Amino acid sequence: MRRLDEYRPIIGDKKLAEIYKKIRKLYNKRIIHLNSTFMGGGVAEILSSLAPLMNSAGLSADWRIIHGNPDLFNITKKFHNALQGDSINLTQIKKNLYIQASENFAVYANLNYDVVIVHDPQPLPLIDFYKKNQPWIWRCHIDLSNPHTELWDFLKGYILRYDLTILSNESYVKKDLPVEQKIVQPVIDPLTPKNMPLNNAMIKKYLKKFGVPTDKPLLTQISRFDKWKDPVGVIDVYKKVKQKIDCRLVLCGSMASDDPEGMKIYEKVKQRANNLITSGDIILITHENNILVNALQRISAVIIQKSIREGFGLTVTEALWKEKPVVASRVGGIPLQIDDEKGGYLLAPDDNDGFVDRIVELMKNPALGHQMGKYARENVRNKFLITRLLRDYLDIISYELGNYNLY
Ligand code: UDP
Repeated sequence: MRRLDEYRPIIGDKKLAEIYKKIRKLYNKRIIHLNSTFMGGGVAEILSSLAPLMNSAGLSADWRIIHGNPDLFNITKKFHNALQGDSINLTQIKKNLYIQASENFAVYANLNYDVVIVHDPQPLPLIDFYKKNQPWIWRCHIDLSNPHTELWDFLKGYILRYDLTILSNESYVKKDLPVEQKIVQPVIDPLTPKNMPLNNAMIKKYLKKFGVPTDKPLLTQISRFDKWKDPVGVIDVYKKVKQKIDCRLVLCGSMASDDPEGMKIYEKVKQRANNLITSGDIILITHENNILVNALQRISAVIIQKSIREGFGLTVTEALWKEKPVVASRVGGIPLQIDDEKGGYLLAPDDNDGFVDRIVELMKNPALGHQMGKYARENVRNKFLITRLLRDYLDIISYELGNYNLY
């Protein structure tokens, strides 16, 4: 388990001492995180760092997964899309299956903790199946700016019982939700295999293992095969870039176990890429491998993130931490991370020609990319590292326990 003091060389003495101070009144407080998958996607990524770090800091933190069958994950995927603006046929059957998953979980999972933190909509109804005698926090990682009205109203029935909702972005705050709402921006862990420093030998080894040649500059998007990440649009952009500069495209997207749509999108991508896959110009990777992601982010000339919608966009943070120039859509949390023209480029998601121009510019002028990357890394150091998230949670937990007189 990583210890908090291992972050000292990265964040400095002052920030570390602040955390030690905050933790003093919380020693051994029992915290549970609940979500729906151990692997794939940003939530699992954050929890796999945060829960151990909370323990190392002196809390007693746990992480559990709500079990579900494919039906549940089909429904919650639809919920996820509808919360981000899609339509949905919200039948009673869907609602029942969704609620049933929480009821089943409650039969065998004891939640005898000082604070319960529920991530995203999947485990939201759990609150109805426990005798609530502690703070419950709903941590929503998705873009809530334009949710499907009927679905939002249904979910709100549960959220109303929560003590606090945490959102990733100011623009997701819901005026019609009379529950306290706080903004906590996501972060990355600089010491995980995904973000730790890698030497060239290691980078080469991993690229070779996964069949990625390095004879030409690489343009890379790391993202689940999900329509909101617009992998098909990335291929269209790449085709135009390739007319101006010879390079390869890597699309690396693991299949999350709670994402049944991945395969469909992957097939669409394959069709669009067609003969460029056989020629080796477009490389599709579906393996989940953190060191590979790290290596790809470090070796690429340019990172693209062409999302149509985005909760926060951890892949952007990861690339910026590695001093890479990122060309990305101005959506969700991405503009919080990229200072346009200083630490990367921001564009409208449908501005394919804009993407092409910026990518070509950066490929032709690596010094510019390097300068942007250096600037961007310091921004990540100040705002988006796991130690900042730990500090935010310590403040929130203290505040909530204070409200219950549970110190
Ligand atoms: N990720 C990964 N392998 C992949 C694709 C994504 O490890 O093939 C990771 C990625 O590095 C990042 C997370 O999954 O840490 C995705 O988080 P993000 O906020 O970008 O998007 P989400 O998937 O949560 O919508």
